[in-house]
Amino acid sequence: MSALSELYEEIALCQQCQIAKYRTKVVPGEGAEDADILFIGEAPGWHEDQQGRPFVGPAGLYLDELLASIKLKREQVYIANVIKCRPQGNRDPLSVEIQNCRKWLERQIELIHPKMIVTLGRYSMAMFFPGKSISKIHGTAQKQDNIIYYAMYHPAAALHQQSLRQTIEADMLKIPSLLTQTESITQVKQEPQQLNMFEV
Ligand code: URA
Repeated sequence: MSALSELYEEIALCQQCQIAKYRTKVVPGEGAEDADILFIGEAPGWHEDQQGRPFVGPAGLYLDELLASIKLKREQVYIANVIKCRPQGNRDPLSVEIQNCRKWLERQIELIHPKMIVTLGRYSMAMFFPGKSISKIHGTAQKQDNIIYYAMYHPAAALHQQSLRQTIEADMLKIPSLLTQTESITQVKQEPQQLNMFEV
């Protein structure tokens, strides 16, 4: 059994937050265990909670299309979320839930060891780009400890706001060249432990 599969078993036992009681299935994440790119969304929705898989509802279908635009299939990347259980009624994740779940995401990052982390939406962005606004930094990359961090809007936001569609599609198209030009991306000094997860 791979270290990631063992981690899924641990995550499935987690009852640290109230929302664990209401989940149908936990949604740890899925994809290539040695993926170059790790996409991090916000939280499972209804479809994800039913299936135990990330991004399988309408936002997920759109994410699949965005991946296809750069000639990737979801099996070639890794897709995870900031929190692993569905918040009831699809409300936003609470700070305490993000904090409790943080250890799982950190472990996933260690095990997958991606070259690039793409944040999808505000909650995911806030973990890696503290104090920043998504409208300002989407489509820009920073490097830290040899990982490229790249912020994008959430695919669901682009589904609901037609004006964001072109933006998210253009931002996705920048990913392949960023992966091949890692040397030219600004390295920032901030330590991961100092990342602020709560300013969104
Ligand atoms: N939105 C997310 O942020 N994650 C999912 O898995 C599905 C929808």
